[in-house]
Amino acid sequence: MQLYNTLARMKQEFTPQKPGEVSLYTCGPTVYNYAHIGNLRTYLFEDILKRVLRAEGLKVRHVMNITDVGHLVSDADEGEDKMEKGARREGKSAWDLARLYTEAFFADFKSLNCVMPDVVCPATGHIAEMIALVRRLEEKGLAYKISDGIYYDTARFPGYSRLAGKSHIEGLKSGARVEFNAEKRNPSDFALWKFSPKTEKRQMEWDSPWGVGFPGWHIECSAMAMKYLGETLDIHCGGVDHIAVHHTNEIAQSEAATGKPFARYWVHGEFLIAKNAEKMAKSSGEFLTLDVLKKRNFSPLDYRYFNFGAHYRTQLEFSWEGLEAAAKSRAALKENALSLLQQCGGKTGAPGDGANAALDKFMAAADDDMNIPAALAVVWETMRGTAVPPADKLAFLSAADKVLGLGLLAASQQAALAPELMTLVHEREAARKSKDFARSDVLRKQLEEKGVLVKDTPQGTVWTLKRQS
Ligand code: AMP
Ligand code: ZN
Repeated sequence: MQLYNTLARMKQEFTPQKPGEVSLYTCGPTVYNYAHIGNLRTYLFEDILKRVLRAEGLKVRHVMNITDVGHLVSDADEGEDKMEKGARREGKSAWDLARLYTEAFFADFKSLNCVMPDVVCPATGHIAEMIALVRRLEEKGLAYKISDGIYYDTARFPGYSRLAGKSHIEGLKSGARVEFNAEKRNPSDFALWKFSPKTEKRQMEWDSPWGVGFPGWHIECSAMAMKYLGETLDIHCGGVDHIAVHHTNEIAQSEAATGKPFARYWVHGEFLIAKNAEKMAKSSGEFLTLDVLKKRNFSPLDYRYFNFGAHYRTQLEFSWEGLEAAAKSRAALKENALSLLQQCGGKTGAPGDGANAALDKFMAAADDDMNIPAALAVVWETMRGTAVPPADKLAFLSAADKVLGLGLLAASQQAALAPELMTLVHEREAARKSKDFARSDVLRKQLEEKGVLVKDTPQGTVWTLKRQS
């Protein structure tokens, strides 16, 4: 599989450290509010990555953190903790807020058919590991104390700008993203441990060798990733906004502590954008969530399909028209799947040559840095063509959907009817084919009385049970 590695600035052949096994770390949500559909785009591309790796026969150990402390309003490690601010907004404790939005996040995650991580680790459950890591940095003389916390001295880490590129870091230094704190040695230095403010009591705070406070946001990912996956991970993912600060800092502190590469492949997903930028900002009052889509009668899987319209490394603009088109295409694909299932008596057999050839083409696209738009085009081409027999189409679709995760052959799909009803369906089809529409209508009514609805689609006749239609 070819993967675009941000660190190398090019596509590279992916090979895991341990043959057959991949360690994958993905930065999880900051749980001070619901996830917006932009956040969810990032989790969807990561899910596709995991599914492609699995389709290649690799075992994936996936760890995702939950940021429930330490993510400050500003990237400059200034301002309030998003959790404490959110707790005040909602009149809840920061702990209750974390519980509420973690649950809401995984409800979204599952409804998008994303495969659950093997380990989900909340930052608040790993304070001791973070303190231990800061101590290691302190022992190496890389951490220093100022009035509001313990900071990492980025000037002491050669190659600090390796991930983001020099110009990016220069921009950062000139104050584009990180406001200058006069006590810091370098503008890009970041907090490892922050002291609780003297003026107000924080809800989330812990004792430490340096004083009561809370961990910096970046240290949590380094500490937890290394705890569960070892000192060098195969793949680390996140959205592109994490490149310049969060991931750059994760690399600096992890590699300085261990002397080893932290992650071998850094994979970043581009943003989902909206004409009205507020709709994609969790800090704004009104933003687009999966629930907003559901209220307009879209399925979360329609949104999943919508994401397949662009490569993960290009920006995607959200529109209701685009989502509508995705919903229609998904429905057509499901209808196709249902028709094939019914033609094959509900059985997905072993793939024949036709299925294997289509699958090779599909996987070639998926393996090319997850080119899902191209892989999806192979699906449509195969479904529309006449060269591949129905049984092979079905076998192919079943394999392709393990990567796409659209639930095309979900158990709820009906594949078999009682034999006497099936006979009526076939008789009706035969009547239609011989253009005996009067008999076809009679048979349709008979079936309807017995609770079976028939629909004629370009892919053939599809039946559904009345109560489930
Ligand atoms: P947060 O909950 O704010 O920590 O963000 C969770 C994830 O969403 C991170 O990996 C971000 O990089 C990603 N993200 C934030 N905004 C967007 C967006 N508009 N499109 C895609 N991903 C995003
Ligand atoms: Zn992270």
